[in-house]
Amino acid sequence: MVDIRRLDEATVERIAAGEVVERPSSVVKELVENSLDAEATRVDVTVERGGKDGITVADDGIGMTETEVTRAVEEHTTSKIRDIDDLESGVGTLGFRGEALHAVGAVSRLTITTRPRSDRDVDSHRGTKLTVEGGEVTSVEPAGCPEGTTIEVDDLFYNVPARRKYLKQDGTEFAHVNTVVTSYALANPDIAVSLTHDGRETFATTGQNDRREAVMSVYGREVAQSMVDVAAESEGSGESGGDEDDLPDGPLDGVSGLVSHPETTRSTREYCSTYVNGRYVTASAVRDAVIEAYGHQLAPDRYPFAVLFLDVPAGDVDVNVHPRKLEVRFADEEGVREQIAAAVESALLDEGLLRSGAPRG
Ligand code: ADP
Ligand code: MG
Repeated sequence: MVDIRRLDEATVERIAAGEVVERPSSVVKELVENSLDAEATRVDVTVERGGKDGITVADDGIGMTETEVTRAVEEHTTSKIRDIDDLESGVGTLGFRGEALHAVGAVSRLTITTRPRSDRDVDSHRGTKLTVEGGEVTSVEPAGCPEGTTIEVDDLFYNVPARRKYLKQDGTEFAHVNTVVTSYALANPDIAVSLTHDGRETFATTGQNDRREAVMSVYGREVAQSMVDVAAESEGSGESGGDEDDLPDGPLDGVSGLVSHPETTRSTREYCSTYVNGRYVTASAVRDAVIEAYGHQLAPDRYPFAVLFLDVPAGDVDVNVHPRKLEVRFADEEGVREQIAAAVESALLDEGLLRSGAPRG
């Protein structure tokens, strides 16, 4: 006879938290998404030792009242959807599952300092500081603080030693954090995003809504100056005018962004970021298509920089994806590949950066 027992609450909670919070970068992802959903115009991310010793995300968004922040750290609480119908009709926010703050609080020491933005119609505009330790709210008190929200996560996995041990060296954990923050900074050039590691600023964008400026802040001036604009739309997409190239028929309505000069390259493919309807994804089909467009213009084992935004008709993408799943697959992968290669190729041709007639490699 085996003894089948019901797990206690604390164990269930920590296991569930582990599904959302895998490592420091997953905490950073959830917190930054919350800041963006809160209409922030500024998001400052600070991490210590790759995020293992501390993660702070500060925003100037709508903030929370004491009642709101107390609710926010409970299980399955969200202000973003009400029921499954809201989900079916499409969500306009990055989050909606209502599990991130609770999960983070279950496996760390969490401090939230928040004050509602002055234009919000709420019963109090006072600031509040709330602390959670291993899933328990340990204090809620008034606090003098600016409008917006600052969330501090200390000692991640202090109460899940097996998880803590599995974390990699600081540099590796920071590389993951950097990838996450970079991807949001590039996708949201209208928001000033900064990243600081162990007291040193890695990058800061200005929030002036200029994609090239965001690329410059993140990748440097040389790369930014070498980038050419990609702008292609399918004829049926309805948006007329402008200087857009025509996109061949296929699943995508539009492709836009920036790609680098064929001689501004790196030795890995990771500098090609792709966004589907504004959401950061990893899509090997897209990377392959970009490289294909350069043909023989790229030196062997060299890869370009690319920041590409794909418009996919709503309904053709599932929003109910797992929070950690970034890899997307398109139903018509070949069609997507052709459209992207065509868009990038015409961008490079427009700038005289491709020898026309060069055979594709
Ligand atoms: P979700 O984002 O899926 O709603 P979370 O657990 O991440 O779930 O957050 C719970 C709720 O807390 C959010 O729905 C939102 O109302 C509030 N919240 C979280 N972070 C912020 C923030 N930075 N600014 C304002 N409100 C926030
Ligand atoms: Mg969230």
